[in-house]
Amino acid sequence: MQHHKVVIIGSGPAAHTAAIYLSRAELHPVLYEGMLANGIAAGGQLTTTTDVENFPGFPAGIGGSELMDAMRAQSLRFGTHVVTSTVSHLNLRKRPFELQLEEEDAASISADAVILATGASAKRLHLPGEEKYWQSGISACAVCDGAVPIFRNRELAVIGGGDSAAEEALFLTKYGSAVHVLVRRDKLRASSIMAKRLLAHPKIRMHYSCEAIECRGDGSLLTSLCIRGTTGAKEVTELPVSGLFYAIGHEPATQLVRGQIEVDADGYIRTEPGTSRTNVEGVFAAGDVQDKKYRQAVTSAGTGCIAALEAERWLSERETPVVVEERQAVNGSGQTYKENPQL
Ligand code: FAD
Ligand code: NDP
Repeated sequence: MQHHKVVIIGSGPAAHTAAIYLSRAELHPVLYEGMLANGIAAGGQLTTTTDVENFPGFPAGIGGSELMDAMRAQSLRFGTHVVTSTVSHLNLRKRPFELQLEEEDAASISADAVILATGASAKRLHLPGEEKYWQSGISACAVCDGAVPIFRNRELAVIGGGDSAAEEALFLTKYGSAVHVLVRRDKLRASSIMAKRLLAHPKIRMHYSCEAIECRGDGSLLTSLCIRGTTGAKEVTELPVSGLFYAIGHEPATQLVRGQIEVDADGYIRTEPGTSRTNVEGVFAAGDVQDKKYRQAVTSAGTGCIAALEAERWLSERETPVVVEERQAVNGSGQTYKENPQL
């Protein structure tokens, strides 16, 4: 059994920020970056996007994958040991905690402290026909799949009304002849800057208050999507699309700790407000796996920093318990009293 003081599970901005802090603190962290864990490449969700324009320090923007490569390089530079494997089991009921990797038969790693930074992954609707045409016209990542020839000069559809939907739809305008954006409510959730760009684009066709009900194809590729109004006559329309891209939000990747750690009603790991501490001592959570509200690269990095600092403090307190020695002191009236040097 290999033993480590602290391990980090994940490879997005939260994981790498934690790794940078822990390695600079000489705690020799081991970071398990995953091998397509939850269908996402090592580096996390930003590897599925083009330009990141809101991460501070890059006035001209930076490619998502490029940003994650730079974070990884920074983790390595300070001595983080990055392992390209997915953690398949984590036992938080034992001390030290035990981990097993996907390619192993039994737990082979133990750790005193764990930082969970497993992020989140795209939700799907599981419509009739979806399984058959998944990756044959249906995807949850326009940036990864949008450029393939089957989408060139064809009508495409994006489901969702948030920033991801806006970004994916705008990206797809480079390839498709038209991009239908299907929004379940009568308004977008996207930030105003993204919404403006979306609505101004000549290839975008907006459809509000509608839902997708079926994916149809020719046996090998998707050829159309049936949609239905959610208000009024609830008419069904068949859109002749060759591509369907989901952008309906994400699910926190908590399967490793299910039943072992406290989560909220939506499945996100609960952390003490303003901290990265979970209800299991020695286990810290950072990034999208514990944040259903902000879900940004910079907030993930921020909570990665908090998790590292808290893990570092927790480990040092365990190694060197604070001994409070009282001293004799004399007050202004000449009386002696016991003084606590920590106060
Ligand atoms: P994630 O980025 O979710 O990464 C977690 C990683 O952990 C994954 O690679 C996964 O494979 C790995 N993992 C999971 N389970 C395991 C396991 N068991 N073992 C090992 N590894 C595991 N935010 C912005 O601020 N600006 C943007 O412009 C922006 N654009 C976006 C565009 C898109 C299309 C999407 C989907 C999101 C975008 N975001 C953006 C949000 C941003 O990507 C996320 O908030 C951020 O990446 C979350 O970081 P994270 O560290 O929590 O983990
Ligand atoms: P969001 O949760 O923000 O939006 C999800 C969208 O999908 C909403 O419009 C939602 O509708 C819709 N939806 C959810 N479930 C269904 C369903 N079952 N059927 C149909 N529609 C559904 O997720 P995003 O992935 O868009 O964004 C996540 C985070 O990442 C956000 O914080 C966002 O700001 C950030 N991000 C930032 C970017 C940027 O700054 N450039 C780019 C991309 C993401 P409803 O509104 O009705 O709930």
